[in-house]
Amino acid sequence: MSEFKIAQERKVATSIPGPKSQELHAKRLQAVSHGVGAALPVYIDHANGAILVDVDGNHFIDLGSGIGVVSIGHTNQGVIDAVSAQVAKLTHTLFTVTPYAAYVEVCEILNRHTPGDFEKRSALFNSGSEAVENAVKLARKFTGRGEIAVFDHAYHGRTNLTMAMNFKNMPYADGFGPFASSVTHVPMSYPFRDPSGMTGEEAAKRAITYMEKRVGAKNLAAIVIEPVQGEGGFISPAAGFLTALATWAKENGIVVVADEVQSGIARTGRWFASEWEPTFVPDLVTIAKGIAGGMVLSAVTGRADIMDSSHAGGIGGTFGGNPVSAAAAISVLQQIEAGGVLENATRIEGVLMSRLKALQASYPVIGDVRGRGAMIAIELVEPGTLNPNSAAVDTLVKHCHQNGVLVLNAGTYGNVIRFLPPLNISDALLNDALDVLTEGIAAL
Ligand SMILES: *Cc1c(COP(=O)(O)O)cnc(C)c1O
Repeated sequence: MSEFKIAQERKVATSIPGPKSQELHAKRLQAVSHGVGAALPVYIDHANGAILVDVDGNHFIDLGSGIGVVSIGHTNQGVIDAVSAQVAKLTHTLFTVTPYAAYVEVCEILNRHTPGDFEKRSALFNSGSEAVENAVKLARKFTGRGEIAVFDHAYHGRTNLTMAMNFKNMPYADGFGPFASSVTHVPMSYPFRDPSGMTGEEAAKRAITYMEKRVGAKNLAAIVIEPVQGEGGFISPAAGFLTALATWAKENGIVVVADEVQSGIARTGRWFASEWEPTFVPDLVTIAKGIAGGMVLSAVTGRADIMDSSHAGGIGGTFGGNPVSAAAAISVLQQIEAGGVLENATRIEGVLMSRLKALQASYPVIGDVRGRGAMIAIELVEPGTLNPNSAAVDTLVKHCHQNGVLVLNAGTYGNVIRFLPPLNISDALLNDALDVLTEGIAAL
């Protein structure tokens, strides 16, 4: 395909990691904090489309997109052009000192495409965690309440507040306390593991009972929920769950925050995964990963009255909404608006779902195939049970890595493999990656 500068083909030229990567990794261990992890220590030199090229000349099929960040594809020409032009013109003023137009334009586009037809405002930040922190700050300011509720299997970041909001202690929180208080964890709707036949409404009732008993509705500022959980293993709640929660929240003056840091920006074949349940309209949405083609940017978008509830100067930050990141985001958002990107996510869903469901039919180690758009996962179990099979995931991930396919694990029990390819991956490349996966499953 001529749209690509690097042939969209897998090529394994050395052992994985190759000698140059190994040399860099030895240096890294002397220079970089060991607290920073490395899922696959091959050192990447350049990339294009869905192909990563490492320093040893290996070409990997990228089924992770840097965790759903380069959804528009690596080195997208529109992003390159926008960033190059902007970097030569202006790199920083600090929007809260002397503003610039690109920040405003990103906010306008986000206000247009986030769920809800009410009046909206946006604010820009740097990371997903920072967006979540700011959504909570605004919900507290708006409601005058302190408590927040989050869900089992959730992931919201690595700052102090978001560590307290995550489900997993390891690796995100262990030894890093004391943690923020006023955070209550409530049961998620997890169709694969919930009692069979449990409806979304029933699962919502279970969560609402927790909130009423443990916290009291009148004390809650916000419910923060990922409409499709990311790190938790691409768990989509049962239909009706999100709506029932939001209805109860509205009756009780509680702000609903959809954390769409991983599921947003076209990833699921909609602008935002919340749209999969059209009756679910969050008050605030947090946005980051896929928004700026790999440049650093995050946002909170939502109801104008909530977003305007802070005094001037209460939210912001030195780098938030940086002009170069904003220029990249405008390019990404305009490309989604122009059409084809959402359709690509839907096309990918078709390929992944049909092949993975067929695999599930042959290999009972695959307990569940789930997700939406280009956000699809398999959950591995000990065949015939619900017992998590993280050992099979580790073996399979390693097999894929050794054969030039970058896949990521996920899930509370480490027993999920998630697929988050760049949205411009070709069917041929995706099928090649799935062939590698299939060999690995057959060999388990
Ligand atoms: C990645 C992620 C975050 C944290 O984003 P950072 O940019 O890593 O701080 C928050 N919420 C969700 C749902 C995420 O997937």
